[in-house]
Amino acid sequence: MPVYEYICDSCHQIVSSYRQRFAVAAPSCPRCGSNELRRIFSVFSVQRTYTDVYEDILSDRQLTQGMMRNDPRALAEWSRRMSSGEKSPPEYEELTERMEKGEWPSGQIEEKREELFGQERGKPESD
Ligand SMILES: [Zn+2]
Repeated sequence: MPVYEYICDSCHQIVSSYRQRFAVAAPSCPRCGSNELRRIFSVFSVQRTYTDVYEDILSDRQLTQGMMRNDPRALAEWSRRMSSGEKSPPEYEELTERMEKGEWPSGQIEEKREELFGQERGKPESD
């Protein structure tokens, strides 16, 4: 379960919240009760984590070589690391399991990756 962090616009209290991945409603501030919380999870935590994960992957020779050979098992390992502990949607888990068995679900994976990771970056919050 991902941890989302919010900052209160009124008193600058940092609020950590465990919630469902696609839940939209922000919690209210436990200190002042304000609902004016801005999400900071996607700005800080994700990008730092991604850099760390990329470095970790790039330093793993076996994994990068597998990726270069288009080995689905290497990509499955890569996607597991990229999601780093977060619970993926069931259909994505299934995709990863298939790749671990050496199957290559062509087309789908790029789409899924966009869907999962493209969304984390710089998506404007409208509320
Ligand atoms: Zn507050």
